[in-house]
Amino acid sequence: MLILFDIDATLLTTKGAGVRAMVDAGKQIHGQSFHSDGIDFAGRLDPLILADLLAANGIPPTADALAAMRRVYAGALARRLADGDTSRPLPGVMALLTRVTAMTDRCTTGLLTGNFAETGSMKLQAAGIDPDGFAIRVWGDDSPHHPPARDHLPGVAIQRAGEAWGRPARGDEVVVIGDTPHDIACARAHGCRAIAVATGKFTTDDLAHADLTLDTLADTDRVMNWLFT
Ligand SMILES: [Mg+2]
Repeated sequence: MLILFDIDATLLTTKGAGVRAMVDAGKQIHGQSFHSDGIDFAGRLDPLILADLLAANGIPPTADALAAMRRVYAGALARRLADGDTSRPLPGVMALLTRVTAMTDRCTTGLLTGNFAETGSMKLQAAGIDPDGFAIRVWGDDSPHHPPARDHLPGVAIQRAGEAWGRPARGDEVVVIGDTPHDIACARAHGCRAIAVATGKFTTDDLAHADLTLDTLADTDRVMNWLFT
């Protein structure tokens, strides 16, 4: 089995520092009027969010403009996370990660996230979670298609799992754990199961179409029983 964790509002919260750091980057490059009004952040890919931010501010999202935003965003995020209390694991996350990573004979753990590798790793490290503890890491710019979409990412994870396992992996061997309908949809697109957790902006009603919907990941035994029985 491969278990793929989303980062923001699933493993951890940065209390909005990620969004604010993107706006910091826009202001630093394009001026103080740069804003994030009307931008949808939750469950989306960072390259698409940066393109939407530029477009909303009347700036063509060229490759150079996107690369500059990505670079400056990383510095801005590092500054916002330097306050050690900003990024924190959500309830039950550390216990669940300890339990699933101990099941090396039965499962592989991975990340499936809209974050860029460098900034997603910063958020994890600031919350006390080691990114290298996940054998498979699929980031927001790992889509093999253009335009990129979250729905492409489980396919990348399944291919890498097959390489790690030495045999083809199947979608029904994969569980995606996330906090938005986008996480559930990308799982469905590849025949994967989905656990949805209402620790972000969506409620358990919004997420009721997942295979398992939870308020939080705090009940470790319940999650482990669902995964492994
Ligand atoms: Mg999320």
